[in-house]
Amino acid sequence: MPDRPALLAELRAALGPTAVLDAPEEMAPHLTDWTGAFTGHAFAVVRPATTDEVAAVVRACVAAGVGVVPQGGNTGLAGGAIPGPDGAAVVVVLDRMRRVREVDPVADTITVEAGVALQSVQESAVEAGRLFPLSLGSEGSCTVGGNVSTNAGGTAVLRYGMMRELVLGLEVVLPDGRIWDGLRPLRKDNTGYDLKQLFIGAEGTLGIVTAAVLRLFPATPRRATALLALESVEAATALLPLLRGVAGEQLTTWELISREALGLVLEHHPGARDPFDAEHRWYGLVELAGASADVDVRLQDALEAAAEAGLLVDAVVAGSPQQRAALWVLREGVSEAQKIAGATLKHDVTLPTRALPDFVAQVGPRLRDALPGVRLVTYGHVGDGNLHYNLSAPVGDDAALRAAAPTLTRIVYDAVAGLGGSISAEHGVGVLKRDAAASYKSEVEVELMRTVKRALDPRGLMNPGKVVP
Ligand SMILES: Cc1cc2nc3c(=O)[nH]c(=O)nc-3n(C[C@H](O)[C@H](O)[C@H](O)COP(=O)(O)OP(=O)(O)OC[C@H]3O[C@@H](n4cnc5c(N)ncnc54)[C@H](O)[C@@H]3O)c2cc1C
Repeated sequence: MPDRPALLAELRAALGPTAVLDAPEEMAPHLTDWTGAFTGHAFAVVRPATTDEVAAVVRACVAAGVGVVPQGGNTGLAGGAIPGPDGAAVVVVLDRMRRVREVDPVADTITVEAGVALQSVQESAVEAGRLFPLSLGSEGSCTVGGNVSTNAGGTAVLRYGMMRELVLGLEVVLPDGRIWDGLRPLRKDNTGYDLKQLFIGAEGTLGIVTAAVLRLFPATPRRATALLALESVEAATALLPLLRGVAGEQLTTWELISREALGLVLEHHPGARDPFDAEHRWYGLVELAGASADVDVRLQDALEAAAEAGLLVDAVVAGSPQQRAALWVLREGVSEAQKIAGATLKHDVTLPTRALPDFVAQVGPRLRDALPGVRLVTYGHVGDGNLHYNLSAPVGDDAALRAAAPTLTRIVYDAVAGLGGSISAEHGVGVLKRDAAASYKSEVEVELMRTVKRALDPRGLMNPGKVVP
């Protein structure tokens, strides 16, 4: 058993007494995740302020044989930032590493520490007259370290790609406490393996990201946004090439919302309002962004082309920033509304876009057979082939959903695998999907992952029990 008092004393000597929390009430917010589904125990929660302090924490933990769990904003949805039940880990929270180190207008980059909130990066980019395009519902709380480590996606992936495509360089504290300085702003660097890619999407299992160089883009002050009423998921997928054809690079967002999902937002989000007079089966949120007013014209052109192609039932175009925000609430409010509406079972899946209609048609009836009354709260980034295929309990019967959860999830995942998709699109694997993800991979692929993990973290102390089975 590790010597807890000795480890706490060492951590306090390295970080100062106030940066090491061990009282249960101080640690509690860091030991349960956003969904409330994952709770763990820890030796201590530490809040280092510099990369050297992070390295000192890791070295102390390795010497004591204690696991290290990196945590950013704790908005992850897969239990990746929560320690296990045995209490044999130290949670390393990066919330004091919040410096924007540099904005470089020539290289078009921003260098930030891992604890900077995503929204602060966006604001720093705006101050410099640029754009940082990653955009998530959790952007006020999630951090760059978490975004890098989960390879976050969000609502502008269609135009700018996921976090992997937005990172140029990283600084990482390795599982043995050494610091890897890969904080290079280079767009071209072919000097061997692209090591930063190993840490992107690794969910803290290969090291602690302490800083990142991120790409900036031209500002897009003009936005044109509309909510479309659609008959089917087929219409949503058929609209993708049409929208791309008319709007080209200006198309940033193409999101899908089912009536059931929209209904929950209308019921539970104060101020949310249905912009249509009638109910529709599906809705698509489309947004174009650019530097000039021609985004409005292009959106009108796209809507006319969609109507001519018979793909549109109705449409509402935002005429002001307030109306735009009101449309976005209908999409961004689903997670919170679902949380209020009872027990949930989340599936963050991705499929070849053309397979989405088949998937939805196949899976819905099977789930309803398995659990009558289950609510299908389907929404997501249809432009990326990514659905949040979430389920809510039959009204008033949370226990039924919990009891049926393994069967329901198996139905969803088998259909995803059968159609050539992946069971984890952007929310990560954590503990939630660790075993399931491996079960749909080949032995060769799982063994390759184990080989990488063993090579970097032979003692298995870096975010133990996550991602790699
Ligand atoms: C309302 C809501 C909406 C969301 N929408 C989206 C969305 O559209 N797209 C999307 O991709 N995600 C979304 N998410 C999920 C979540 O916000 C992202 O996964 C986010 O990137 C997590 O960042 P975080 O700082 O909160 O990380 P945490 O939750 O703290 O950690 C997530 C994982 O990263 C690891 N980690 C954290 N920091 C570091 C670090 N510095 N070094 C190494 N590992 C680290 C943790 O150990 C854990 O495994 C949403 C979440 C909520 C609550």
